[in-house]
Amino acid sequence: MNVRTITLDEFLSELKAQGVPQEHFAFRCPMCGTIQSAVDLIAAGAGADFDAVEKHLGFSCVGRWTGAGTPKDTIDGRGCNWTLGGLLQTHKLEVVTPDGKCHPRFEPCTPAQAKAHACLPPLDPRPSIPDSTEAETCLESSGSPA
Ligand SMILES: [Zn+2]
Repeated sequence: MNVRTITLDEFLSELKAQGVPQEHFAFRCPMCGTIQSAVDLIAAGAGADFDAVEKHLGFSCVGRWTGAGTPKDTIDGRGCNWTLGGLLQTHKLEVVTPDGKCHPRFEPCTPAQAKAHACLPPLDPRPSIPDSTEAETCLESSGSPA
Protein backbone atom coordinates (compact mmCIF):
# COMPACT_ATOMS: atom_id res chain seq x y z
CA MET A 1 0.00 0.00 0.00
CA ASN A 2 1.30 3.41 -0.88
CA VAL A 3 1.62 5.78 2.03
CA ARG A 4 1.41 9.47 1.26
CA THR A 5 3.58 11.61 3.51
CA ILE A 6 2.78 15.29 3.99
CA THR A 7 3.82 17.96 6.45
CA LEU A 8 1.59 19.22 9.22
CA ASP A 9 1.17 22.50 7.34
CA GLU A 10 0.03 20.65 4.22
CA PHE A 11 -2.34 18.55 6.30
CA LEU A 12 -3.88 21.63 7.91
CA SER A 13 -4.23 23.41 4.59
CA GLU A 14 -6.02 20.38 3.12
CA LEU A 15 -8.47 20.58 6.01
CA LYS A 16 -8.92 24.33 5.66
CA ALA A 17 -9.51 23.84 1.93
CA GLN A 18 -12.61 21.82 2.80
CA GLY A 19 -14.23 25.16 3.57
CA VAL A 20 -16.29 23.93 6.52
CA PRO A 21 -16.11 24.71 10.26
CA GLN A 22 -13.53 22.62 12.13
CA GLU A 23 -16.19 20.37 13.67
CA HIS A 24 -17.14 19.34 10.12
CA PHE A 25 -13.59 18.59 8.91
CA ALA A 26 -14.19 15.28 7.17
CA PHE A 27 -12.00 12.17 7.06
CA ARG A 28 -12.45 8.82 5.40
CA CYS A 29 -11.74 5.64 7.35
CA PRO A 30 -9.22 3.59 5.34
CA MET A 31 -10.90 0.34 6.35
CA CYS A 32 -14.65 0.89 5.97
CA GLY A 33 -14.72 4.06 3.86
CA THR A 34 -17.06 5.88 6.22
CA ILE A 35 -16.77 9.63 6.04
CA GLN A 36 -16.68 11.12 9.52
CA SER A 37 -16.14 14.38 11.36
CA ALA A 38 -15.96 15.61 14.94
CA VAL A 39 -19.75 16.04 14.82
CA ASP A 40 -20.13 12.30 14.26
CA LEU A 41 -17.68 11.45 17.03
CA ILE A 42 -19.51 13.74 19.47
CA ALA A 43 -22.87 12.22 18.47
CA ALA A 44 -21.41 8.75 18.99
CA GLY A 45 -20.31 9.66 22.50
CA ALA A 46 -16.55 9.88 21.95
CA GLY A 47 -16.44 13.22 23.75
CA ALA A 48 -18.46 16.28 24.67
CA ASP A 49 -16.98 18.79 22.25
CA PHE A 50 -14.40 19.31 19.51
CA ASP A 51 -11.48 19.52 21.94
CA ALA A 52 -12.50 16.26 23.56
CA VAL A 53 -12.73 14.30 20.31
CA GLU A 54 -9.85 15.95 18.43
CA LYS A 55 -7.41 13.21 19.47
CA HIS A 56 -9.67 10.61 17.87
CA LEU A 57 -10.47 12.60 14.74
CA GLY A 58 -8.93 11.01 11.67
CA PHE A 59 -7.34 8.35 13.86
CA SER A 60 -10.02 6.05 15.30
CA CYS A 61 -13.11 5.18 13.28
CA VAL A 62 -16.39 6.49 14.67
CA GLY A 63 -17.58 2.87 14.74
CA ARG A 64 -15.55 2.30 17.90
CA TRP A 65 -18.21 4.31 19.74
CA THR A 66 -21.29 3.08 17.88
CA GLY A 67 -20.69 -0.59 18.57
CA ALA A 68 -19.87 -1.33 14.97
CA GLY A 69 -17.86 -4.46 14.30
CA THR A 70 -15.09 -5.26 11.91
CA PRO A 71 -14.97 -3.47 8.55
CA LYS A 72 -17.72 -4.53 6.17
CA ASP A 73 -18.23 -4.25 2.46
CA THR A 74 -21.16 -1.90 2.83
CA ILE A 75 -21.03 1.58 4.25
CA ASP A 76 -23.90 2.01 6.67
CA GLY A 77 -22.81 5.14 8.50
CA ARG A 78 -21.89 3.34 11.69
CA GLY A 79 -18.26 2.88 10.75
CA CYS A 80 -16.08 0.06 12.00
CA ASN A 81 -13.91 -0.69 14.99
CA TRP A 82 -10.67 0.40 13.34
CA THR A 83 -8.01 2.56 14.96
CA LEU A 84 -4.62 3.56 13.68
CA GLY A 85 -3.32 2.87 17.16
CA GLY A 86 -3.51 -0.88 16.55
CA LEU A 87 -0.78 -3.30 15.66
CA LEU A 88 -1.65 -3.53 11.99
CA GLN A 89 -0.45 -0.54 10.04
CA THR A 90 -2.82 0.04 7.16
CA HIS A 91 -2.91 3.81 6.99
CA LYS A 92 -2.53 5.64 3.70
CA LEU A 93 -1.38 8.97 5.05
CA GLU A 94 1.38 10.07 7.39
CA VAL A 95 1.65 13.59 8.71
CA VAL A 96 5.16 14.71 9.61
CA THR A 97 5.28 17.23 12.45
CA PRO A 98 8.11 19.76 12.82
CA ASP A 99 9.85 17.46 15.32
CA GLY A 100 10.26 14.92 12.52
CA LYS A 101 7.80 12.37 13.86
CA CYS A 102 5.32 10.61 11.57
CA HIS A 103 1.70 10.42 12.61
CA PRO A 104 -0.69 8.14 10.74
CA ARG A 105 -4.00 9.80 9.93
CA PHE A 106 -7.11 9.06 7.91
CA GLU A 107 -7.16 10.84 4.57
CA PRO A 108 -8.99 14.17 4.56
CA CYS A 109 -11.97 14.15 2.20
CA THR A 110 -12.34 16.48 -0.74
CA PRO A 111 -13.98 19.89 -0.14
CA ALA A 112 -17.10 18.68 -1.97
CA GLN A 113 -17.34 15.59 0.22
CA ALA A 114 -16.79 17.60 3.40
CA LYS A 115 -19.51 20.09 2.46
CA ALA A 116 -21.95 17.34 1.51
CA HIS A 117 -21.16 15.45 4.69
CA ALA A 118 -21.70 18.55 6.83
CA CYS A 119 -25.32 18.64 5.61
CA LEU A 120 -26.12 15.13 6.80
CA PRO A 121 -27.39 14.37 10.27
CA PRO A 122 -24.66 12.80 12.41
CA LEU A 123 -24.37 9.02 12.25
CA ASP A 124 -27.34 8.55 9.95
CA PRO A 125 -27.02 5.77 7.44
CA ARG A 126 -25.59 7.42 4.42
CA PRO A 127 -24.35 6.53 1.02
CA SER A 128 -20.73 7.03 0.24
CA ILE A 129 -20.18 10.44 -1.30
CA PRO A 130 -18.34 10.27 -4.61
CA ASP A 131 -15.27 12.42 -5.15
CA SER A 132 -17.03 14.20 -7.97
CA THR A 133 -19.90 15.44 -5.82
CA GLU A 134 -20.92 18.95 -6.71
CA ALA A 135 -19.76 21.33 -4.01
CA GLU A 136 -23.11 22.10 -2.47
CA THR A 137 -23.56 22.93 1.14
CA CYS A 138 -26.35 23.60 3.57
CA LEU A 139 -23.95 25.68 5.62
CA GLU A 140 -24.02 29.44 5.81
CA SER A 141 -25.35 31.21 2.78
CA SER A 142 -24.17 34.70 3.51
CA GLY A 143 -27.19 36.35 2.04
CA SER A 144 -25.89 36.85 -1.47
CA PRO A 145 -28.58 36.18 -4.07
CA ALA A 146 -28.28 32.94 -5.98
ZN1 LIG B 1 -14.06 2.52 9.74
